[in-house]
Amino acid sequence: MISPPNSQPHAAASGVSLPLSDESNRSDRLDLSEQSAQCTLAHSVEQTGVGLHSGVSVTVRIHPADPHAGRCFRRVDLPNAPCISATIDAVDQTTLSTELRAGEATVRTVEHLLAALLGVGIDNALIEIDGPELPLLDGSALPWVDAIQRAGVVPQAAARSTVTLQAPFWYQKGDAFVAALPAPELRFSYGIDFAEQAIGNQWHSWSPQQDSFAAAIAPARTFVLARQIDHLRTLGLIKGGTLENALVCDGDQWVNPPMRFANEPARHKLLDLVGDLSLLGAVPQVHFLAYKASHHLHTQFAAQLRPQLTYSG
Ligand SMILES: [Zn+2]
Repeated sequence: MISPPNSQPHAAASGVSLPLSDESNRSDRLDLSEQSAQCTLAHSVEQTGVGLHSGVSVTVRIHPADPHAGRCFRRVDLPNAPCISATIDAVDQTTLSTELRAGEATVRTVEHLLAALLGVGIDNALIEIDGPELPLLDGSALPWVDAIQRAGVVPQAAARSTVTLQAPFWYQKGDAFVAALPAPELRFSYGIDFAEQAIGNQWHSWSPQQDSFAAAIAPARTFVLARQIDHLRTLGLIKGGTLENALVCDGDQWVNPPMRFANEPARHKLLDLVGDLSLLGAVPQVHFLAYKASHHLHTQFAAQLRPQLTYSG
């Protein structure tokens, strides 16, 4: 989210218990097989926190929703409580986070919660929020995953759509790109390359069939470059940024270690990609490969990929 096309993190103290390896929590592996049922939450859950860019404290309540409802945000602080669908058509601006719009109603920095919902297998949810931006929490998707898993994930009497892609498709801007390649299993791979020595060139590849989202991706926190902080603040951004919710990279060192993973920045970019691609609704069985991309590139790619996809069921 805060991470620009290429940047990196810091380690925020969070009090969460971290997995010892990507091999843990195998029982949580996401089942995205063609015949699997749609899922929703067993109970409603609530989270309160401050938005990274707005600095505004908000409360989020995630409720179960009917089959085929998808994921919708309801701005309960606005007149008539308008709903904003979490779909690629609703994408508004993408400056350092993904913002959705329906009419005059907007909701910002949706990517970490959306990634968590996909990562734990939630298809249908109503997300009430009393402000303009999702809370950043510890900068990762882990608090969302923990809250949803505490509530429980329940199957519904409706099958997921089957989505297929017949031929490779990519979207490129300069040396940055996002690609989708038909593959025997769903996989996400992400590469970044920064001048900052603490980040440099790093990659991560994740398959939901091999590692759980909760263990391998959700704990990775957002990051920012120390040299960009003053500029971002003059733009009115990162008002809610602290050393507790974003990794800060200062050249060859991290301002607030320890890291949760050696390649935590690459994993966080992958987390952002999962959240942005979830705006497609149903994810095709492909290998997504991204390099030096951004929320803008992720969502542009998704919008252009959709006409290439075949939905059934
Ligand atoms: Zn992010």
